[in-house]
Amino acid sequence: MHRLISLLIGLFFLSSAFADNRTTLHDFRFWSSPERTRIVIDVDQGVRFSINQQQNQFTLSIRNAKLLKDTYKKLFFTDQRIKKTRVKRDKTTYRFKFSLHHQYQIKSYTLKPNDKYRHHRLVVDLHDQKDQGIKAIKKSKKPILKKPTSTQHASKIILIDAGHGGEDPGAIGYKRSQEKRITLSIAKKLAKKINATRGMKAVLTRRGDYYVSLTKRIRIAQANKASLFVSIHADAVKSRRAKGASVYTLSERGGSTNFARRLEKSQNTVDQFGIQQKSDSKDEYLNKILWDLSRKDRETQSQKLGAKILQQMKKLGPLHKKVPQKAGFVVLKTPAIPSVLVETAFISNPEEEKRLNSNKEQDKIANAIYQGIINYYK
Ligand SMILES: [Zn+2]
Repeated sequence: MHRLISLLIGLFFLSSAFADNRTTLHDFRFWSSPERTRIVIDVDQGVRFSINQQQNQFTLSIRNAKLLKDTYKKLFFTDQRIKKTRVKRDKTTYRFKFSLHHQYQIKSYTLKPNDKYRHHRLVVDLHDQKDQGIKAIKKSKKPILKKPTSTQHASKIILIDAGHGGEDPGAIGYKRSQEKRITLSIAKKLAKKINATRGMKAVLTRRGDYYVSLTKRIRIAQANKASLFVSIHADAVKSRRAKGASVYTLSERGGSTNFARRLEKSQNTVDQFGIQQKSDSKDEYLNKILWDLSRKDRETQSQKLGAKILQQMKKLGPLHKKVPQKAGFVVLKTPAIPSVLVETAFISNPEEEKRLNSNKEQDKIANAIYQGIINYYK
């Protein structure tokens, strides 16, 4: 009996050794944003694929592929763009037929593994065509890129940026909480408070679980003529003991401390989550920002705003850094307006992770940032 089992195991390994030259499709993930749907497939290196587009559908063919049972179930995703998915297979090629609601601009590329994803990734983006985008914005009550119509009485537009999102989970907590969920939750609570304040209006850089490139976040601030920019994060470090809030403002020269430099590296994840950002960051736009004339004043104002927020955060518990720190975060490169990045707490600290997941505590954090903003304007 024992022999039989080891023989079977041997055969199993033999057969999987034969299958080794096939690309395993390890996982499927879908992210819908107001402007595009992103399909991410974890694959092996050197995946061979093609895309064939016909009006309201497209076929993604992957040659020599192997589909895992768990992966198969995740395939049948629908959203405002994808109506239906069918899978066909002949000998070695898998064909995924996606029926769509409209015709979209399709872009595909592969990404290398990084510290968040150990597999190579095949990414397919379905972008709304230009006119569709405008239609969608007109339909939605809360436009993101269009200049808000309800701001006639609001003299101050506060841009609230929930860090990370979609394929970029941000920091992962001791109990596996994802930073991107916590930041969105706090951002939405903060937006509510701001929108309930006379003369103020909040605009979010994202309202769901999807990735927005760092430069796009800046563009949203510009398009909305924002008067202030607050980016919300919850960091992780190796030590489980690190705790407390800190606030960062932009330094063109880069981080002022080792800690700030390390953070920069993790926050400026320029090309890990989408190739689009790469081309974005190359354009002249960012360079122009660096030469912004009112930079000096912006720096002083950002420091002042940061200090006001820290003053409030101090009431919730000890701070990690008592004064605003400087770092070269891409997302803070909004021209001319005071911009801060708030590390609300350490998701890597078990106690703080628990706090960050609590609805009540999130509200306290949102309130501290809110009060800081109010005091800044006083
Ligand atoms: Zn973060």
